[in-house]
Amino acid sequence: MRDSKCANPGAELKPRSLYHAIASLHLYSAEFARPSSSGEKGIRLKLPMASSSLSAFRTQATNPPVDLPLRDSHGRVIHDLRVSITDRCNYKCVYCRTGEMGAQYPELAIEEYIRLIGLFVSLGITKVRLTGGEPLLRRDVVALVQELSRLRTVDDEPLDLALTTNGHLLDSLAQPLKDAGLNRVTVSMDAVDAATFERITRIEGSFAKVLAGVRAARAAGLTPLKINCVLLRGFNDDQIEGFARFAREEDVVVRFIEFMPLEEGRLWTPEIVVTLREIVDRIGRVLPLVELPPREASETARRYTFADGVGEIGIIAPVSQAFCGACSRVRLTSDGKIRTCLFSQVEHDLYGRLRAGAGDEELRTYIVRTIHMKEARHHIGEPSFLKPSRSMVHIGG
Ligand code: SAM
Repeated sequence: MRDSKCANPGAELKPRSLYHAIASLHLYSAEFARPSSSGEKGIRLKLPMASSSLSAFRTQATNPPVDLPLRDSHGRVIHDLRVSITDRCNYKCVYCRTGEMGAQYPELAIEEYIRLIGLFVSLGITKVRLTGGEPLLRRDVVALVQELSRLRTVDDEPLDLALTTNGHLLDSLAQPLKDAGLNRVTVSMDAVDAATFERITRIEGSFAKVLAGVRAARAAGLTPLKINCVLLRGFNDDQIEGFARFAREEDVVVRFIEFMPLEEGRLWTPEIVVTLREIVDRIGRVLPLVELPPREASETARRYTFADGVGEIGIIAPVSQAFCGACSRVRLTSDGKIRTCLFSQVEHDLYGRLRAGAGDEELRTYIVRTIHMKEARHHIGEPSFLKPSRSMVHIGG
């Protein structure tokens, strides 16, 4: 079905009315009004799981039936896997969630994620990022990290192990995650002003919790610590300059991400997107920026420091300056489907094959064939654009 909003950009929602559109989405359900302190509140959709111990599922890198490195049909090397371990979230960010729905998809057992991730690693994946939903809501997330930290790449190196979180539960989990072998963490924050932040997350007290989480992560050595901020015109774009100062004061890398049409509701228009060019110009007027060279070809962020060399800003511009040509990513959803692009129209049921009893070689062959089908690029802003059936929170951002 064609996305009429994108086909007719800006027709219904003008930037000035965005705040009102978002404010009207403030629909609390009692079930989700407060984040769970135990981290396990929410819909439990556990699939039947194997009873073996975690270590029984550890997969060693073995000779795969393919030439390495893993490539798609466009010649891109795929070395980066993002794994959603739940699509539950304890925040209802207004640009992401409608506020009406909770989890929509089942979760695999932790052992099953370990087995599937091990297969990807045996095929050449070197970087694994855990995400969600909110990954810290999974009770066994520390045990999962510990098991993943024992995997070795095909070059017999440890994995580059990262996690993306809203930071709400990070205060107490940062050190255990570091001790378990996590290398880095990215915290999502869409405002540096507490009132704006809480209006966005729709959770009282969230700013103080996340700030404590950021500081705990830095103290634990989960660095370089990145803060991801999605900017929406007329809603939180007044935070840009504040974030530039926050990057310097808190010694974090702030990365602004252009808003993509992946929300549960229908807010996206090209006019709402605050582009890379605009962000650079606005910060530059307050604190002059100096562009930094990319560290690797597949780096998604354009990086800048300030004239005095203190602090770093990154801008991820999938809308105004798409980087699909250098994409090295593939995703595994919380219910075990492979997604070869955020905007894929089809999903590939890896877990279904595992449940049907497929052995490791069969699953590897399936992964290789699926990655070969990775899309050349997304089509945001084009008349032919189709919104994917899952939104960001259910894919794994
Ligand atoms: N709960 C975790 C968190 O908050 O970081 C992980 C999941 S969240 C979906 C991952 C990231 O996706 C967040 O930084 C969020 O701001 C971003 N995000 C959500 N919807 C987006 C959209 N439509 N466009 C761009 N980024 C989006």
